[in-house]
Amino acid sequence: MNLEKGYAGELKLDVWLEGLTNDCLVVNDLLLKHKGKLFQIDSLAIFQSIIYLFDSKYHKGDFYLDGNKWNTIAADEITSPLPQLERCESLSRQLLRQRLNTNLSIDPFLVFTHPEFTLYHASPELPAIFPTQLNSFMKKMNNMHSKLNRGHEKLAEQLVALHLNDSPNTEWPAYDFGQLKKGVVCSECSSFMIEKGRIWICAACGQTENSQAAILRSIKEFKILFPKKKITSNTIIEWCAVEGDRKKVYRTLTNYFKKVGSRSASYYID
Ligand SMILES: [Zn+2]
Repeated sequence: MNLEKGYAGELKLDVWLEGLTNDCLVVNDLLLKHKGKLFQIDSLAIFQSIIYLFDSKYHKGDFYLDGNKWNTIAADEITSPLPQLERCESLSRQLLRQRLNTNLSIDPFLVFTHPEFTLYHASPELPAIFPTQLNSFMKKMNNMHSKLNRGHEKLAEQLVALHLNDSPNTEWPAYDFGQLKKGVVCSECSSFMIEKGRIWICAACGQTENSQAAILRSIKEFKILFPKKKITSNTIIEWCAVEGDRKKVYRTLTNYFKKVGSRSASYYID
């Protein structure tokens, strides 16, 4: 679903990269594998002597850094986007060196594209491009000396050739219900949302959703992940990590599904 609709952040990153006028190549949306590890790249910009790796983030609102921890001003901790960027950079570098025989250096950046994003206490060392820096960074890229040759083109072609299509051969990681973190995941940015009364709010991007829509979306995800499991109210309460009123789960199930079986062993089907 995410591939089809594209994250809002990725779309903005694409639009921003359209401003490139320098001699360079942009490769978007790569799913690669190196030494058995899968990793995803939002965008790569290949210049004469450097490759920029961009990881797009669509966080909205005011955040602050406390050491390595990322928090919203409302004091909710969110998952730091840095470890994922570092993993992606490291695997990309290894793949470029070991399989594509290139010594071009890689410079990774988190690109924050939401105009209402602020990060307090950020060090200038943080590999990030903030909304207020998008224009100046673009100027820097366009003013850089860059003249590509056939080697660069070949590199881009090889990267695209290594891209794994979402085919039936996709090797999914093993997972089971007990092992997965429970909760409702944001439809915009995939962060976990917070249940507040009748709505769910995303701590990362501020997206809100009414409980029925959020639960229904989570049930669809549950069905994709566990096609053989029965949809019971208890399973969905656990799956969505509902802490408040459970009636919203019963109501959603009754409204959208058909109840099968007797009281204690009932489950729901489409
Ligand atoms: Zn979100």
